Amino acid sequence: MKSPLQRDLTPLQKDFIYKESEFGADTYKPLPVVLSKGSGVWLWDVDGNKYLDMMSAYSAVSHGHSHPELIKVLREQSERLVLTSRAFYTETLGAFLEKLTEVSGFEVGLPMNTGAEGVETAIKAARRWGYKSKKIPPNKAEIIVADQNFHGRTTTIISFSSDKESKENFGPLTPGFKTVKFGCIDSLQSAITENTAAFLVEPIQGEAGIVIPDPSWLPKVRELCTEKNVLLILDEVQSGLGRTGKMFAYEHSSIRPDGLILGKALGGGLLPVSCFLSSKEVMQWFTPGSHGSTFGGFSLAAAIGKRSIELIEEEQLAQNSMNLGNYFLNQLKEISSPIILEVRGKGLWIGIEIDTKIITGRQLCKRLLTRGILSKETHDSVIRFAPPLVITKKEIDWALEIFKKVISEIETEQQN
Ligand SMILES: *Cc1c(COP(=O)(O)O)cnc(C)c1O
Repeated sequence: MKSPLQRDLTPLQKDFIYKESEFGADTYKPLPVVLSKGSGVWLWDVDGNKYLDMMSAYSAVSHGHSHPELIKVLREQSERLVLTSRAFYTETLGAFLEKLTEVSGFEVGLPMNTGAEGVETAIKAARRWGYKSKKIPPNKAEIIVADQNFHGRTTTIISFSSDKESKENFGPLTPGFKTVKFGCIDSLQSAITENTAAFLVEPIQGEAGIVIPDPSWLPKVRELCTEKNVLLILDEVQSGLGRTGKMFAYEHSSIRPDGLILGKALGGGLLPVSCFLSSKEVMQWFTPGSHGSTFGGFSLAAAIGKRSIELIEEEQLAQNSMNLGNYFLNQLKEISSPIILEVRGKGLWIGIEIDTKIITGRQLCKRLLTRGILSKETHDSVIRFAPPLVITKKEIDWALEIFKKVISEIETEQQN
């Protein structure tokens, strides 16, 4: 039966949806809305309906849509110089790397474009370091990862995914990876051998459903990695740059990793910009010709990347994420409903575990869509609320009101 909230798509939206589905490969299952404009935390569809963005393009739009300062840089830099490849030096790349190393405390950065390329770069760095510094026998290097991880979509990266759908029939898979239980120190301890080069992990698992490990786990991981001479590489493509209420999620546990992968918000919501950061000790084994990317660190990306970091600092986006994230989380926790099984989060990165026997994640997201909130489920049982970090308390209160309304509507329908 058709829900009263189910909104019929206009012919205009139907036409755009038809074209994407007809002429595009079927790798996504978008919600039925066609967007054409964004500003700050708001999005508009082609018919002029307005939505609050609770997805932020998987945290890539932390600065809000089309941040005026970033648009200014985009305009000015694109009129000056965009792309040269790294066959030459430019006036923007050095400054971007200097800013990145300053804010992160790492010595050297290697810029890429997508998060997956940043992860690939980290894997290569770890393996080279393993052979050259740790003296692992040729082709024996192992990298340990956590189950339920999400690190991207390349053939190598999906080789160590535990998600069947993302790896099935894509073999042969890349060897050299071992999987341990996320958040379990014993599991890591027993997996480490003398051939282990690195432990690659997300400090909080994003795509797994905002899974937050026990606070004692990461310090223990740090200790163990140091003891065993294993690099601790954190994938903060999604958790980094203010999302969890700190510039980097690892700062919640007062440790430092040996390598850090950034992406998503590094491009200010405008461009794909990623980077692998580490020490000179690790990075020294990258030599000319050993790795690269035509677009990695291109002039426009470097200018945007630098300004993106500066804006996170200037506008205190991590602080806002912490304050409003705590507020939002507590308000959500107060909602008592059989639909909500758990609410968890760090900063403005919140996962709501729902009872899929009552409603699926997708159905709930569709309901929210008709009420003006855009989100996307993960694993069908978790709804995420990860708005741009520029969001205000007033906007969060509006979202809370809508969310509560939708939840009670579903409950009422259940009873009838
Ligand atoms: C999104 C994401 C990636 C991959 O980034 P892409 O830009 O999509 O390649 C890697 N790691 C984590 C933790 C992510 O959330």
